[in-house]
Amino acid sequence: MVASEKLARSTDTHSVTNQPPALQDYNLYSNDTALVECIKKEGAGWAEEKLQAFGQLIGREETIKLGYLANENTPVLKTHDRFGHRIDEVEFHPAWHDLLSISVENRLINLPWVEPKAGAHVARAAMMYLMVQIESGHMCPVSMTFSCVPALKKQPEVFAAFESALMSNQYDQRFIPAAQKRGMLVGMSMTEKQGGSDVRANTTQARPVTAKGPGQLYELTGHKWFCSHPMSDAFVMLAQAEGGLSCFLVPQFAPSGERNQIRLQRLKSKLGNKSNASAEIELEGAQGWLINEEGRGVATIIEMVSHTRLDCALSSAGLMRQALTQALHHTQYRSAFKKRLIEHDLMRNVLCDLALESEAATVLTMRLARAYDASASDRKEDLFRRIATAVAKYWICKRAPSHVYECLEALGGNGYVEESMMPRLYREAPVNSVWEGSGNVICLDVLRALTNEPETATVLLDEIKQVAGQHKELDAQIADAETMLARKSEREARHLVEHLAVLLQAKLLVESAPQAVSDAFIDSRIKGGWGKTFGTLTSDVDTQVILQRAF
Ligand SMILES: Cc1cc2nc3c(=O)[nH]c(=O)nc-3n(C[C@H](O)[C@H](O)[C@H](O)COP(=O)(O)OP(=O)(O)OC[C@H]3O[C@@H](n4cnc5c(N)ncnc54)[C@H](O)[C@@H]3O)c2cc1C
Repeated sequence: MVASEKLARSTDTHSVTNQPPALQDYNLYSNDTALVECIKKEGAGWAEEKLQAFGQLIGREETIKLGYLANENTPVLKTHDRFGHRIDEVEFHPAWHDLLSISVENRLINLPWVEPKAGAHVARAAMMYLMVQIESGHMCPVSMTFSCVPALKKQPEVFAAFESALMSNQYDQRFIPAAQKRGMLVGMSMTEKQGGSDVRANTTQARPVTAKGPGQLYELTGHKWFCSHPMSDAFVMLAQAEGGLSCFLVPQFAPSGERNQIRLQRLKSKLGNKSNASAEIELEGAQGWLINEEGRGVATIIEMVSHTRLDCALSSAGLMRQALTQALHHTQYRSAFKKRLIEHDLMRNVLCDLALESEAATVLTMRLARAYDASASDRKEDLFRRIATAVAKYWICKRAPSHVYECLEALGGNGYVEESMMPRLYREAPVNSVWEGSGNVICLDVLRALTNEPETATVLLDEIKQVAGQHKELDAQIADAETMLARKSEREARHLVEHLAVLLQAKLLVESAPQAVSDAFIDSRIKGGWGKTFGTLTSDVDTQVILQRAF
């Protein structure tokens, strides 16, 4: 047999059938009915056109490819140049910079600060939720830059020095002093080797260069165990000053124009979040400005942390939505046992259950974003924001890994293969629960809110009770939550927070989703009898309505 005949024969065996087409060139926004409805409901209807365009842009084949490239070509630390000089730089693949350009140009780093009108937080939250579906590693510097603004505003002259770069919509990747840049990114470094959750255990020392006090320059000496995106133009850091734990803004270049004394020791080898670099750093007299009074470090940085916690919940909701989209897409095209997968009753049950969880995460995060819009002028919304941020961060971030895993399984073996995107989504899912306050720490924060600001309980219950009288089971569980809220028991804190989150989600679904969706959610998550894995909804669930809505 001649070679060409051999080749023809081997090609004959390679016919590709029963595989779905690639999910690309679609609009992530307009395909997400629950999100589109939330945008109107939560006051960002004016952003509809922008969100449509954004959803289309990031659903393009080229944009989706950037997510793959940035994660396959991970950042590389260059501590020294070829002559032996320290350079402490991290090199990223061009795709990383392209992704950051998209996010910065669309103002994911500052929309509500630049256009502080009703719905601005909701519109920005929607873009965050959408962009994370394409690539979530780069959302870390995006979120930190967005979130640092309320903390930095506590020191107006320091904020003013960086304001134009922080409010820019240009991504400027040049490694030069921030004052010379068209736009900047900011990181945050609190965690040290001996303590992350317990930041009061920080040992990094801060001494005034000349005078002490708010806005003055200090030198920081010590280490940080985690410093994500170490190529940021400045970092919000905590360090011990004479007056106690304090907050500083430490620029990459010292005020003299020289590189600041920040040494990158090594990059973490991480489970996920591969496109992003997370470094261990040493501070050898790095200069930074004191933000707010000495000793007010936690109170100052908490303004930033509140916003990054919102973003954790949004990111997890986005990951869940993308995983669900992939599962729905695959099961529509793939057949087994003479029927499309989505036509099999048991698969429909799984997909519906996953869709309910995803929609519940979407409505809760968008409602929460509205509280950020309204909190400056409305005390009740501010109290709601205080407690609901922790409740949503805890619950949605906890739900994401198991949700994404179940979506992955809907793709069968393909879901276990990198090209499907599912392994990346799966690896990404746990981090939102770990950073910015791990699970227990967040539950303790809920108890702290209930103790220090008892009205938070009333506001949260009032919100849930807006749908009282419509569902027997819901009413019974609200009464139960009231009892638990009064107990404020540390041992049952997870149970309480879970309870509050699910009630809040149920309330929002009753308000805005078709009855088939809210009934199925309440019957499974509140009434009881729901199994321990996804796919255990009762047989009276209207799968047609739920699935059509999801895709
Ligand atoms: C990929 C990645 C990037 C990161 N980037 C940054 C960064 O840029 N900047 C930064 O500052 N940090 C960063 N971190 C660190 C992260 O914020 C911390 O890991 C996190 O806050 C937990 O701190 P820890 O690791 O010291 O754990 P620990 O504080 O030791 O906590 C371990 C466990 O104990 C639990 N726990 C703690 N206290 C209590 C308590 N009182 N009661 C019950 N349980 C408790 C926690 O919930 C957690 O489950 C990053 C982490 C990761 C994984």
